[in-house]
Amino acid sequence: MLENSISATYENLSVVCEYCGCKNIFNRATDLLTLEPISGLDVKCLNTACGKTFRIFGDTINPAFEMLVFDCDELYKLKHYASCIANLTQAWETFFANYLRVELAYKPYAHDEDLDKLNANLMNLYNFSKRWTFGSLRSIFLNMCIKPVESVDVLSEKYGQLRLAPERAALADVKADIHDLVEKLYDTEIGELRNKIVHKNAYLPHKDEVDKYITETRETLFPLAHKLGVKGDDVNWYLRSI
Ligand SMILES: [Zn+2]
Repeated sequence: MLENSISATYENLSVVCEYCGCKNIFNRATDLLTLEPISGLDVKCLNTACGKTFRIFGDTINPAFEMLVFDCDELYKLKHYASCIANLTQAWETFFANYLRVELAYKPYAHDEDLDKLNANLMNLYNFSKRWTFGSLRSIFLNMCIKPVESVDVLSEKYGQLRLAPERAALADVKADIHDLVEKLYDTEIGELRNKIVHKNAYLPHKDEVDKYITETRETLFPLAHKLGVKGDDVNWYLRSI
């Protein structure tokens, strides 16, 4: 019923109140107190003159990395080009972290269905990877595409080595169906551009640069996620797909 008027982003849900027609923007962390997709939730209209309770449905269930890319559309319209680049880079980081959870926690769980082990793996992974950023995560991802890593323990032992970018020639060992996409990721300079924007002299990117990286990210990240079966964090999905 309200599905047409709901608009979801990674951070916010915006819904038109069915009583007063006012646009309500609910921040997931602050107002909804959950980062999970909302399949049905009673909310109170934020227009104080109305304040009626209504139910929201039909939140998107796209993985977080996809939402971060989709959110760029709005930022782009508003000419927030620096934020677009920050979002796209964060989308990659979120994808890499999701890939690690899939390969090292969800897929093993789909085989042994050992819930304690799943939780221990997720916790370990979170603890030692929470400060990794684009450069390290990309190198780990590339190295794992060249040669799979067997477990969270192996990743933690070999981290020093895996966080270094592989030689370009080593990409020859990447599986054929993802080889070209992995090569594009190897060559992208979006991480350097983000660092220029965030860390150094607050570089302001030009529209052309943003166009280039929005296209590049969509054409690389989405098919890569599809081919690798990275679909977010619904562990049941991986149980069903193995
Ligand atoms: Zn209202």
